[in-house]
Parts: sequence; structure tokens; C-alpha cells
Amino acid sequence: MRFAGTEFLSDPFQKIGMSDCPFFMSAPNLIILGPQGSGKTTQAELLAKTFGFALLGAGDALREIAQEDTELGRKVRQTINVEGRLVEPELISTVIKEKIAAVPKDQGLILDGYPRSLAQYELFRKFWPETGRGDDQVVFIELSDQEAVKRLTKRGRPDDMPAAIRTRLQSFYSETMPMVSAMEADGKVFHIDGAQPIDEVRRQIVATLHFN
Ligand code: AMP
Repeated sequence: MRFAGTEFLSDPFQKIGMSDCPFFMSAPNLIILGPQGSGKTTQAELLAKTFGFALLGAGDALREIAQEDTELGRKVRQTINVEGRLVEPELISTVIKEKIAAVPKDQGLILDGYPRSLAQYELFRKFWPETGRGDDQVVFIELSDQEAVKRLTKRGRPDDMPAAIRTRLQSFYSETMPMVSAMEADGKVFHIDGAQPIDEVRRQIVATLHFN
């Protein structure tokens, strides 16, 4: 999927000065992580639009498949809509791998919502070399539980009651944080304070990754 913002930049490399960038020898590959309420999807969308990166959202990809009138579509629909649990790591990994393959290698990439567990990260690490893309970098947007609960309660969706929010945050800590530790052991996680205003978070991500 090419993000609509691509049209604004005919040559994203030139605009973001890739030759000066110490981290990326080729088009950037970003993984954005953070608890619910941290604003990671907002930041992923901003970066995609500003720099012409392709944005691959795991939830979006699965919702697309769930629309299909196929065996896979029915299975995904059942899992995400009826059972409300995560799809199998192999399934989401195959889906994301195919989406990545469709992105031109000279276009930057942002992954939002994948990988999100140790099992997914292991599969990701296995298939990544096959994509022929350069190194990936991880941005972790931090937010305290207290602030996450405050923000999500304000959002006011039926599933945003404090108890439900806390349950989802717990799953973030039990499933996603062990993966973040593994990524840190691989030496590539940048931490950004998500309690700051959206524009300041954006500015710090851009500065940290040397996109400016
Ligand atoms: P989201 O849009 O991130 O809220 O995701 C919607 C639903 O898609 C989730 O509740 C999960 O059932 C499923 N999902 C999203 N991302 C993943 C993932 N990385 N692994 C497994 N299931 C996922």
C-alpha cells in the first residue's frame, strides 16, 4: 500500500537527506511501538505523510482480510470480531510479509501494530532478510498507565472504560514488553516521551532518527 502522502514527495531521499543519515544506508524501516493512548498511530501517519513512507498497520491489514468472502476471511473475522483475540503469529506475519513485498525497496516503511509479541518478533526476524530491505529501527513511545487511562477515558468509546483499558494495558505489558526487551538486546530501540504534545513527539522522532 502506498500512502496517499507519497504524491507530495517525488524524491523522499533527497528531501530527508538520506546521505547524511547515520542509521539508514537504504530506505528507512521503522517499527513504531507504544501502549494504547501513546499516539503511535498518529505519529506513524504523520511520518508517512511527511516523508512519503508506506504505512502498514496490522489491524488495518486484518480488517481488510476479514472483509473477504474466503476461508481465511471468515477465520480472521471470527478471531478479531467474535473472539476478540490476537490472530496466530504465523498468520499476521505472512500478511505483513506480503504487504512489505509490495512496497518498492526505495520507499521507506513504517510498521504499526506489528510485531507485538516475542513469537511475532522471531518470525519477523526470520523473514526480514528475504525482504531485501536494510536494517530496521524501533521507536518506542512511552506513556505512563495513569496518563494512558486518562487519555483513553476521554476518548469515550464503549470499550474505553477504565477496567477494560487496564486489561488491554496489562496485555501490552505481558505480551509486547518482553518483545521490547528482546529488541533492546538487539540494540535498536529509541525511547520517546509520549506525554508531550503531538508536535513535540513528532519533532523528537524526526530528530532522533536524523530525518531532518
Ligand atoms: P487494532 O487495529 O490494532 O486495534 O487491531 C484490531 C484487532 O486485530 C486486534 O484486536 C487483534 O485481534 C488483531 N491484531 C492487530 N494486530 C495484531 C497483531 N500484530 N497480531 C495479532 N493480531 C493482531
